Amino acid sequence: MTTPIVEIDGDEMTRILWEMIKEKLLLPFIDLNTKYYDLGLKYRDETDDKVTHDCAYAIKKYGVGVKCATITPNAQRVEEYSLKKMWKSPNGTIRGILGGTVFRIPIIAKNLRGYIPSWTKPIYMARHAYGDIYNAVEAKADKGTIAELVISKQGKEISRQVIVDFEKSGGVVRGMHNLDSSIMEFAHACFKFALEKKIDLWFGTKDTISKIYHHEFKDVFRDIFDNDYKDSFEEAGIEYFYTLIDDIVARIMRSSGGMLWACTNYDGDVMSDMVGAAYGSMPMMTSVLVSPNGEYEFEAAHGTVTRHYYRYLKGEETSTNPIALIFAWTGALNKRGQLDNIFELSEFAVKIEKAALETIQEGIMTGDLAMIAQGNAKKVTSIVFLDAIAKKLR
Ligand code: NAP
Ligand code: MG
Repeated sequence: MTTPIVEIDGDEMTRILWEMIKEKLLLPFIDLNTKYYDLGLKYRDETDDKVTHDCAYAIKKYGVGVKCATITPNAQRVEEYSLKKMWKSPNGTIRGILGGTVFRIPIIAKNLRGYIPSWTKPIYMARHAYGDIYNAVEAKADKGTIAELVISKQGKEISRQVIVDFEKSGGVVRGMHNLDSSIMEFAHACFKFALEKKIDLWFGTKDTISKIYHHEFKDVFRDIFDNDYKDSFEEAGIEYFYTLIDDIVARIMRSSGGMLWACTNYDGDVMSDMVGAAYGSMPMMTSVLVSPNGEYEFEAAHGTVTRHYYRYLKGEETSTNPIALIFAWTGALNKRGQLDNIFELSEFAVKIEKAALETIQEGIMTGDLAMIAQGNAKKVTSIVFLDAIAKKLR
């Protein structure tokens, strides 16, 4: 391997699994070239979180990163780790530097029972990660006040509309926004991802009600599609489908999956958790951040699995599911192979994925999966599970 992959280590149980995955599935088989960044909470604290910024710039430089789950500190963690400060979410910091869109990818094994039996193919989710209620200002208003929407330029008023006259009752009011540049980046990321995976792209907003705000999303997607992607979608035999968000939800429920579902920020927040849960188990979901410059950061969708870690510290063997972390690694290896034209590397990544899924399909699995398995299922520890995959790889 020539160009390195940016390797971003993390915390707690996922940090333990990270080491095991490298030791059992990667290092014996490939010459792994990584730039290592330790985002374990202790080292983030020691470096005043500089290491988080460094790893994001390394992804900018090398194009591909793979990240372990990390603790986002709260008051309790500040005490537990005697932190200098309540450091920000590393994912937020990295996303802030790279920009872009997070895609979530469910991993499906035939013998695991999802909660929606008709969803036989994965539903990929794309969530716009900027604006709307997440960057809003809100206020409480007393009875007798008026709330207005004012747009001005250098102090000069351009437009003014009454939002509501709180004549008869006080209430609440919110101002939110989005940026054309961000919506455009989101649209490009979605069209590119659909093309790469050769799957249809579905997108919906409430444009009939939100005739300016949501309509802007609809128009931007349509323009970009018509100008830049129409022909390549036709060639790939895939479709861009836009309808109202409620219609999309109803159609998704009746579908067999297999599409990329693009969502505005709030819809994506809520719907990706629903879709993830419906496939059976959270550790069967990876995610990838794709930046507008074509940089990729792969990671598991779950957290550091704290409860398992405390059991591990007591010397107990745990049955923590490493699948999402494995698929984060294979996603990164595969992408590195594609970008650098190292066919064998991409092929090796696919082999690991196959070996992992076959292991589950033969009934060897971690506890979370054994609970939703159909047919024979044997609950094993993380180590036994990883050894079984490694044996298949050989
Ligand atoms: P979590 O680590 O995802 O775990 C929640 C529960 O889900 C676990 O207790 C476990 O249930 C189950 N679970 C998750 N992953 C599993 C796996 N691989 N195998 C088996 N079971 C699994 O979420 P959390 O407890 O809310 O957060 C813990 C820490 O992770 C927090 O400090 C948070 O800041 C951080 N976090 C990081 C990221 C990230 O880096 N991307 C994302 C989310 C959270 P049972 O205990 O019932 O077995
Ligand atoms: Mg959510």
